[in-house]
Amino acid sequence: MKFPSMAEAAGRTLGDEEVAAATRVIRSGMLSSVWGTETRALEREVAATYGVRHAVACGSGTAALHLSVVAAAPDPGDEVITTPITDFGTVAPILAQNAVPVFADVDPSDGNLDPAAVAKLIGPRTRAIMAVHLFGAPARVDELRALADEHGLALIEDCAQAWLTELPGGRLAGTVGDVGTLSLQQWKHITCGDGGLTLTDDDELARRMRLFADKGWDRAAGRSHAGFGLNYRMTELQAAVARAQLAKLPGVVAARRRTAVHLLEALRDLPGVRLPRPEGHAWWLFPIVRPAGDARELAAHLAKAGIPARAGYLEEPLNRAPLWGRPIYGTSRYPLDGYVPNPCPEAERLVAETLLIIDWNENYTTEHADAVAREIAAWR
Ligand SMILES: *Cc1c(COP(=O)(O)O)cnc(C)c1O
Repeated sequence: MKFPSMAEAAGRTLGDEEVAAATRVIRSGMLSSVWGTETRALEREVAATYGVRHAVACGSGTAALHLSVVAAAPDPGDEVITTPITDFGTVAPILAQNAVPVFADVDPSDGNLDPAAVAKLIGPRTRAIMAVHLFGAPARVDELRALADEHGLALIEDCAQAWLTELPGGRLAGTVGDVGTLSLQQWKHITCGDGGLTLTDDDELARRMRLFADKGWDRAAGRSHAGFGLNYRMTELQAAVARAQLAKLPGVVAARRRTAVHLLEALRDLPGVRLPRPEGHAWWLFPIVRPAGDARELAAHLAKAGIPARAGYLEEPLNRAPLWGRPIYGTSRYPLDGYVPNPCPEAERLVAETLLIIDWNENYTTEHADAVAREIAAWR
C-alpha cells in the first residue's frame, strides 16, 4: 500500500488554486510584499482565523521564532526556557539574540514541556518561555501562562506543527502566548515552500516584529532606520500560494483528525503502547510511546513493511546536540562560556528508546490507518 508523503503532489493539497494565485502575482509585475497586496491580505486572513489583532508574515518559521524572541527582548546573556524535543528553528533564534537556551524536561506521555520542570529553572536571568505544541498535540500552555505571569516572563508558542491545534475550552494554540508562531515550510499542514507568521494581540510587539522583519525600516518615516533588523520579508508569491492553502486548512486538519482517530480506535486495546490523546490534536505526525523501550526495533519493522515510521524524531534531543561544545560566533562561545545544557532524562529516553512516529497525511484513508494498525499488532 502506497502512503502519500508531504514530499510529493499526492500528499499535498497544491492544485489549480495555487497555480492561479502564483500566476496572478507574476502577471501583476509586483513580487515584493512592501508594495504588493497578497502578504498584507494573508496577514489579515490568518489574524481572522486565529482571532488575534496582528499576524506578521515573514520568510520562514525560524524567522517567525526569531521575531518572537525579538519581541520578548532579552538582554544578551538572559535566559529563555524551552524544550529539547523540537526543530532547531526554535532554539537558533535564542542564540541569534545572544540569549541562552535553558532546556527543561518534557512530559513522557507526549514530549511537550513539563510545567513543573520549567518552574524549577526560572531564575533572575529568565526572560521568556518558548513552548512547542509537538507533533500537533496541545502543550500545557495555560500552566505555562500562569508561570510566566507570576514571574513577569514572555510566553512564546511555537505552532509550526500545530495549525488549528485546540487547547482545553476550544481556544486555538498560538493565542495564549504573548506571541504565537506558524510555519509554511514544505512539511507542515499547509505550505508555500517556506514561510512563517507570528500572531499577537499586542500592538507594540507587532510593531517591533514588523520593524525587525524589514531591516528596522520605518517606511512611514522615509529612508530612516528605527532599530536593528534583518530582511525577513515574505514575497508575494509565497503569500498568494499560502492564501490558497489557508482556505484548505480546515479540510486538511479535519481529514487528519478523522483517520488519526480511526487508528486510535484500532490500537485501543493493544498492550505495550501509550497512545496520544486526541483532544485538540492537529496530527502533524502520529506519535506512539513504547514504554518498554523498543521503539527503534518497531520502527525498523514498520519501515520494512512499507509504513512511513521512524523512531525518536531526532538523533538526539537538542540539549545533547554536538554544537554546545563549539564556538557560536567566530571563535567565540559568547554568551555560552562555561555553558552546559541541562540533562533532560525524560526527553533523552523518548528520543533514544520509547518514541515512535508515523508520518501522517490528509490524503490517508481509513485503509492506510488499518494497515498501520495491522503491522503494529503483528509485531512480536
Ligand atoms: C518546522 C519547525 C520550525 C521551523 O520552521 P521553518 O519554517 O522550517 O523555519 C520550528 N519549530 C518547529 C516545531 C517546527 O516543526
